[in-house]
Amino acid sequence: MDILKNIPVKVDPQKVRKILRLERNRDAQLVESLIEKAKTRIVPQAAFKLCYIDEKMDDAVIVEGLHLQSKILRKNLDAVERLFPYVVTLGPGLAETFGGTNDPLEKYYLDVIGNVALNAARKHLHDHLCKKFALKKISFMSPGSLQEWPIEAQSQLFQLLTDVEGAIGVRLTPSFLMIPTKSVSGIYFQTEVSFFNCQLCQRGQCPGRKARYDENLARDYGIIE
Ligand code: SF4
Repeated sequence: MDILKNIPVKVDPQKVRKILRLERNRDAQLVESLIEKAKTRIVPQAAFKLCYIDEKMDDAVIVEGLHLQSKILRKNLDAVERLFPYVVTLGPGLAETFGGTNDPLEKYYLDVIGNVALNAARKHLHDHLCKKFALKKISFMSPGSLQEWPIEAQSQLFQLLTDVEGAIGVRLTPSFLMIPTKSVSGIYFQTEVSFFNCQLCQRGQCPGRKARYDENLARDYGIIE
């Protein structure tokens, strides 16, 4: 397993304000000061590993002896032989900051700032993988983002990476959630066409949506008739 420590993360106030849908100048100072506060509390790190596929089945792949059951993952790995399981975290500091404020608005703003920082840290890992392994384009899937690859698959992801807690301090709860909560996990893979979980997700009104639901693609992946 490889570790990236001290990942440089910049949080763009404009991006935060856009997600918060703040009108011009509203709460500008508060957002700026919370970004500064968050910056002192986060410790962005990543753990990842280069793994090779042992076997491809109809709706699953075997990786390092582990059976990863997902026809979507299987299809995404059609043209490749390797994959990169990963966990990225901001550490526990931001959640502790939430605990130190009783202002719900401040908590909400800090949560959004944390999500922007976490995405920036994952982008750093994305760029690092592309550079290190000479990959032109990569996409990722995350356990639990889609019903077809449920949250329980976190267990296998963590087994592939081995000691994630010892390396970057992230552990799984019995219900497969990650602690610290400002952590993300998944599998990166090389691809020619970008893949987004959201393309296969029918959830409406999701503020995190990155791509439109694509019914034809869902049919291609065999998750609808
Ligand atoms: S639409 Fe929302 S819930 Fe669905 S995969 Fe995208 S971010 Fe996740």
